[in-house]
Amino acid sequence: MIFFFFDKEKNHLLCKKIFSIKSKFFVILYQFKFETMTIQEIHHHLESYKINPSFQRAAIMQYMLEHLNHPTVDQIYADLLPTIPTLSKATVYNTLKLFVDKKAVKAIFIDEKNVRYDAQTYPHAHFKCKRCGAIHEVPLEESEIPKFRGSPDLIPSDTQIYFFGVCKKCEELPFVTI
Ligand SMILES: [Zn+2]
Ligand SMILES: [Zn+2]
Repeated sequence: MIFFFFDKEKNHLLCKKIFSIKSKFFVILYQFKFETMTIQEIHHHLESYKINPSFQRAAIMQYMLEHLNHPTVDQIYADLLPTIPTLSKATVYNTLKLFVDKKAVKAIFIDEKNVRYDAQTYPHAHFKCKRCGAIHEVPLEESEIPKFRGSPDLIPSDTQIYFFGVCKKCEELPFVTI
């Protein structure tokens, strides 16, 4: 199943570089950059999206940049709670909502049970394995992003493309439903 939305707003500066050479290579570079970010760079990253970098916002963004596996609010909260005992689930939820509003994080609706969050804001599709539930990145060329041909009265704000199937690892295992 494929869902199309359209995003006219410009992405993070780095995203533009992604399109200059084959996207797959730059996806790796993009992930590497995230993994090597210092706290100061995370603050700059938040500020580049016009987000005031409070302690909790920086901690949540750092988590998002270090966990590119599309975590849920529950996962983020559970993982951060031991290091930030004052954290509440509402704060995690509201912070992610702010990040999404400012386009620093994408909300992914590929999972029917939970909204998932993705700090990788360059255009890419997602593939969900229907057996193990793993969500994989699918690189997209800019030319592969569909143009919105709906009524001018409709003002789309996002594009998301989802693929569903089975990963090779699961295909080779005896069939088990989840
Ligand atoms: Zn799988
Ligand atoms: Zn993603």
